[in-house]
Amino acid sequence: MQSIAIIGSGICGLTIANGLKDTKAEVTVFDKGRRPGGRAASRTIEGCVFDHGAPAIPNKVAKHFVTDTRLSSEQWLLDKSSTHCPIGGVANFGRDIADGLKVQQSATILGCQRNGEDFFLSLSEGRSVSSIDTLILTAPPLQSAALVQEIEPTLGEELRETCRMSPAWVVLFKIADQFSTENYAFAPSEIITNVRHEHTKPGRKSSSLGSWFVAECSSEWSVENLERSPEWVSMAVLEGLRADLGENFPVASSFAHRWRYASTQDPIGSNYLHNDNRSLWITGDWCLGNGIQSAHTSGLSVVNELLTDMGHGSFS
Ligand SMILES: Cc1cc2nc3c(=O)[nH]c(=O)nc-3n(C[C@H](O)[C@H](O)[C@H](O)COP(=O)(O)OP(=O)(O)OC[C@H]3O[C@@H](n4cnc5c(N)ncnc54)[C@H](O)[C@@H]3O)c2cc1C
Repeated sequence: MQSIAIIGSGICGLTIANGLKDTKAEVTVFDKGRRPGGRAASRTIEGCVFDHGAPAIPNKVAKHFVTDTRLSSEQWLLDKSSTHCPIGGVANFGRDIADGLKVQQSATILGCQRNGEDFFLSLSEGRSVSSIDTLILTAPPLQSAALVQEIEPTLGEELRETCRMSPAWVVLFKIADQFSTENYAFAPSEIITNVRHEHTKPGRKSSSLGSWFVAECSSEWSVENLERSPEWVSMAVLEGLRADLGENFPVASSFAHRWRYASTQDPIGSNYLHNDNRSLWITGDWCLGNGIQSAHTSGLSVVNELLTDMGHGSFS
């Protein structure tokens, strides 16, 4: 039986694993994070759900999974406009796709080696996985480049030279219940590109929890302050908001999260890279551009190539 390993349980990796689930191949996804979904991530703090990566799932991607997996539309398709927001957080989208697939979380891949024709993965805590026929990397480009450097140095070099990603700090904050957030108009500034009203998302509002937000920092400011502490970033962002909204702007709590690879600056401009004998594939949103749609499209195109190699029809 063909053994396929996918590094990364973001939307791209899950799209690939889901697309291959009806083949005879044994497909395993490895991800260093605690939950599937990658940058389509959520965090719950004091009962408040924050989507601190992508804020929602594009319609087209959501519909693909409703027809092709066990996801039920009632469960999470509440917003019928251009995007969908799963109840309980965007991360539940990844969780529901991963359900029924073979996905190992908290599994950091430290290195990829060759053993004859096969691949061999070294994981944290001295673990390893051998006899992999096909290896698919969906991590951000610099991370993938480091992992393939030993086995496919040319691909590693190409990744390093052609693709750039920008970081983003995000600050999750909550304000006290007694203040009406409708009066707060958050204007973009040099520091903050947008502030998302998380409490207004489907199924979230609870009168006892107040209002909660995600402030996304500009890539320029995030680059400049990349190595600052989360506490420092939180304070700087809230000071920026206070300068606009007044000293009495009532923040109850805040938390900063750093995304080292948040968005694509320079995509490679093709759906994926692969080695000569098509046993190693490198893909992710950054191949085509930015966002979940790009991650999904890149992933689907790898699925189609692999299905063709296996002698199956294509998958749209
Ligand atoms: C703040 C922010 C705002 C965003 N806003 C939007 C938006 O409005 N609209 C939109 O469409 N998109 C948005 N995005 C982008 C969107 O989240 C991404 O485009 C998409 O989720 C990328 O999916 P992916 O599978 O390609 O990569 P990822 O989600 O990054 O998945 C890669 C996975 O690889 C794993 N990994 C990396 N290295 C290793 C290793 N060595 N071992 C094991 N696992 C590893 C990571 O843990 C990760 O889970 C935003 C992202 C951020 C951070």
